[in-house]
Amino acid sequence: MPLKIIRQDITKLECDAIVNAANSSLLGGGGVDGAIHRAAGPKLLEECRGLGGCQTGDAKITYGYNLPAKYVIHTVGPVYAGGNRGERELLISCYKKSLDLALSHGCESVAFPLISSGVYGYPKPEAFRVAVDTCLEFLKENEMLIYIVVFDKHGYNIGKKNFADLDEFIDQNYVSEQEEIFKSSKNAFDLPRFSKAKKIAGMVAGAVPCDEAICESIEMPDFELDESFTEMVLRKIDEKGMTDPECYKRANIDRKLFSKIRSDIHYRPSKMTAMALGLSLELPMNEFEELLQKAGFALSKSDMTDVIIDYAIRHKIYDIFAINEALFSKDLATF
Ligand code: ADP
Repeated sequence: MPLKIIRQDITKLECDAIVNAANSSLLGGGGVDGAIHRAAGPKLLEECRGLGGCQTGDAKITYGYNLPAKYVIHTVGPVYAGGNRGERELLISCYKKSLDLALSHGCESVAFPLISSGVYGYPKPEAFRVAVDTCLEFLKENEMLIYIVVFDKHGYNIGKKNFADLDEFIDQNYVSEQEEIFKSSKNAFDLPRFSKAKKIAGMVAGAVPCDEAICESIEMPDFELDESFTEMVLRKIDEKGMTDPECYKRANIDRKLFSKIRSDIHYRPSKMTAMALGLSLELPMNEFEELLQKAGFALSKSDMTDVIIDYAIRHKIYDIFAINEALFSKDLATF
């Protein structure tokens, strides 16, 4: 959650601050700058007039006026001139200075467009990498929800870095829901009969009628509950010598959610949270599936997200941000 790649009009985002890819006059322009000024209304320009411009690589803050965001952070990206004129350092500086301003103004969430990747000509894949890497660096030391807004998805090579043959894998492994239903209905008669334990579980859940005669004929085994989801997560953190922050940051989940999980041994996470923690703990497939089962889930071949996770684990890709890029490239919800 702390770093989200999304595709949306940044002017519509409800967060504490949005960042504007401005020019050094701060008096408005085209692209995202024009869109922000139009949506914020004339008072934004009025406040900007008093700022005296802004240097490339630097950032200044104003209110957001008619925008859903409370603040606009104006930063001036470098004009790309081949890559040997310090463009990368200046672009990194735009993100850093903007994040520092957001932090000092108490923002808990901030959204960036891909600075310099429009009229200023910075090659899109590189502009995207600088954005992601600089924000992740910041998140190592700070708590914030950062959105990277990718307006026009094409041309960024998102998801291509570690998932070179993902499409082929999907072709071979993805089973559409219809096929899945057909397959399972063919096998319906081969299903093993319910075991006694399953019958008991069914009765407890109210699915199997419990008349006294059946109950009497069943010897109730001594149930000892298996290790719970939370217990397995905490055990794995210990075994790997990780700290809690290392674990939840790698999982891209926020501290509050993690402390909820930690403090409730029967916590039932969503499937995405369960998978995020399994990835963060770098579990091999058998343990990853065990962890999911403890939360009541399984990987399915008829779910594209699951197929991508399957691919990632088979290829030992546990970097959730790389996986998010692959999910984003397929228009799927990200971690
Ligand atoms: P720069 O001059 O820094 O290159 P641009 O505004 O030309 O700034 O483009 C920066 C990025 O913002 C581009 O990738 C462009 O697609 C994107 N962009 C344009 N309008 C919006 C918007 N409304 N919301 C989010 N991103 C946008």
